[in-house]
Amino acid sequence: MSSKYKVLIVEDEKNICHLIGALLEADGYQAVPARDFANGRMLYFSHRPDLIILDLGLPDGDGMDLLREIRKDSLVPVIVLSARADESDKVEALDLGANDYVTKPFSSAELMARVRSALRTAARYSGTALSPDGTFTRDDLLIDYGARRVFIDQSEIKLTHTEFDILSYLSRCSGKVVTYSAIIKEIWGYSDSGSVKKLQVNMANMRKKLGAKPGKKNYIENELGIGYRM
Ligand code: CA
Repeated sequence: MSSKYKVLIVEDEKNICHLIGALLEADGYQAVPARDFANGRMLYFSHRPDLIILDLGLPDGDGMDLLREIRKDSLVPVIVLSARADESDKVEALDLGANDYVTKPFSSAELMARVRSALRTAARYSGTALSPDGTFTRDDLLIDYGARRVFIDQSEIKLTHTEFDILSYLSRCSGKVVTYSAIIKEIWGYSDSGSVKKLQVNMANMRKKLGAKPGKKNYIENELGIGYRM
């Protein structure tokens, strides 16, 4: 069926590649498997997938280089799948434009949730994101971009100028992990040694105002050592 989302899987480990393919097919997606860098690159250009699941350690190249090449060409959502648990790799992949990352070993349910989330985010980027009157709503939260006002369950939350800018930016990237450096660049335009601390202080204050509680489902998730996800 042509209406199925096409998902390119670039993964050299045969069992994992098959497993992801089966999970995708079971959820109604069309899986396009590639077992190395060269094949993944070729299938990307020939199939124009709606989403890519990309392993970083490939026998004939680094998935990071493929990500770089894809980003020069399109904004198709990319979920990086990697055995590298190192935070700097995740940050590098996200800053190169990956939408999300999943560390191996991964849970099937989690991977499929990330796939759905990345496709939803992509649909928003393509125009259905924000309502025409310039507001963003998620559950009880309402952001009015034009008036720079925020409401939860219809009562107004007073944010500082900076807090509003950060919330506004995160909401526009909702569903995606946004790294510290990406937020800092967007809000302050420059980065110095105190930037991350400054961001964390602003975030802590803002999340408190939004009623964040540990262990509860919150509007903004903290991805420790990496960034935030709305
Ligand atoms: Ca691999």
